[in-house]
Amino acid sequence: MAQTSFPPTQLYIDGKWVDGPNKVVVYDKFTGEVAWELSGAGVDEVNKAVAAAKKAFPIMAKMPIYKRAEILNKTSQLLAENRAAIANCIAREVGKAIKYAGFEVDRAVDTFRLAAEEAAQIHGETIPMDAVKSGEGLFGFWHRKPLGVVGAITPFNFPLNLAAHKIAPALAAGNTIVLKPAEATSLTGAWIVALLEKAGLPPGCMNLVHGKGSVLGDIITKHPDISKITFTGSLEVGLHILANAGLKKVTLELGNSSPVVIAADSDMRYAAAKAAIGANYCSGQVCISTQRIYIEAAGYDTFKKYFLEEVGKLKVGNPLDPDTDVGPLILEKDAVRVESWIKEAVAEGATLLTGGQRTKNLLQPAVLENTKPTMKVISQEVFGPAVSLIKVDSFEEGLRLADDTQYGLQAAVFTRDIERVFQSIHALNFGGVVINDCPHLRPDQIPYGGNRQSGLGREGLRFAIEEMTSIQTVMFRTGHAR
Ligand code: NAD
Repeated sequence: MAQTSFPPTQLYIDGKWVDGPNKVVVYDKFTGEVAWELSGAGVDEVNKAVAAAKKAFPIMAKMPIYKRAEILNKTSQLLAENRAAIANCIAREVGKAIKYAGFEVDRAVDTFRLAAEEAAQIHGETIPMDAVKSGEGLFGFWHRKPLGVVGAITPFNFPLNLAAHKIAPALAAGNTIVLKPAEATSLTGAWIVALLEKAGLPPGCMNLVHGKGSVLGDIITKHPDISKITFTGSLEVGLHILANAGLKKVTLELGNSSPVVIAADSDMRYAAAKAAIGANYCSGQVCISTQRIYIEAAGYDTFKKYFLEEVGKLKVGNPLDPDTDVGPLILEKDAVRVESWIKEAVAEGATLLTGGQRTKNLLQPAVLENTKPTMKVISQEVFGPAVSLIKVDSFEEGLRLADDTQYGLQAAVFTRDIERVFQSIHALNFGGVVINDCPHLRPDQIPYGGNRQSGLGREGLRFAIEEMTSIQTVMFRTGHAR
């Protein structure tokens, strides 16, 4: 396959774009037409990619930080220069509304810039060795070292910025990488790789393999020459990876069933406008998409009225139309699953207030009420445009129900009462709590990650760098320790 397009549709191994034995077909999620045919890796290609990353590790580890930062900043600049083309690629292969696809590119521009800044902050400390008798006569310090080869596996929903959240900190810390993007959205990952190459990253430091997670993923997660796995995706695959990984360091960014608690003292019109976006942004296919909204009884009817008005304003359809708010779901089978969960809830007593109609993989934003905690739309991650309004007798009951979940990524609370703000922070066992906006907020520098079944570790550049380095302690015996 000749290199005819940019970014190339091939694999990237040891600084060369090469063909693999398989094929990965990426469809336009709105038209259903074939958008791109990419080369797919086999076992050999994955092993070659890991070998190239292992060989290149000393180059990356020894590269001075100012040079790493130059490459990361240059990549940030190239992402910005190619904003329109990358957003178009995301909109077509994810089905994401173009306005949000452009926003994803802007975020990746920031992610690479922040990684360049954080590279210059990687440091250690001296240790007061003579604080104990056994340390007398010693001078000691600790510092951070890169781990080696990082295996990065990414999901379909933010194919640019979630890859950026793995690649940028890994390189900032001096590691090398093998990236495997989600099959359905493979080309966006190639954009980052091609731009890193243009920015001057040496061969072998970044490698890209396309193909089935169940085949390539197992090779990567079990590979003895990979030191660290960084994964974003479903709980099921995350648990499988953990079982494969042995003593590798592992970061898992998994799912959520994101709750919002709305106190009766809130500005209901404002809260309704925010929640309508929070529930339907990227067609609800966001790990921190608003799914359960608990509203204090005194404010329920007002919130419901405004919320239905706001959901009614959302434009559903072609993601390339700049006015579209909600595009299709990734696959028809996912839209069928969400539709079936809505129907099942209705059959068990829930009321469908609006939406839920499906045409192929396009689903009209659905709003339910009278749901029960045991229904799938409440207890599991919907990952689609379906949200439930739940009337609660008190703010405390809202917090209790919001926290009654196996997940723990992000949660949100609307209130104007400062005491309730602090009450919420203590009551909600989530990696992040948002006050007066929805759970989907993720400015890219924040420590971000889940408790309970939502994951292990934290991303956000400084925090990802900590997870992609190991601490080495150095002790000297010297007559001049003090
Ligand atoms: P997924 O788990 O199906 O796939 C994610 C990646 O894992 C893909 O690249 C896939 O090919 C790969 N994979 C599949 N089987 C594998 C295996 N056996 N070994 C290794 N890799 C394997 O997830 P998805 O459908 O792409 O994404 C949706 C999920 O991701 C949702 O649960 C969502 O909540 C979660 N997510 C979490 C975050 C977060 O930051 N916490 C962000 C986005 C998405």
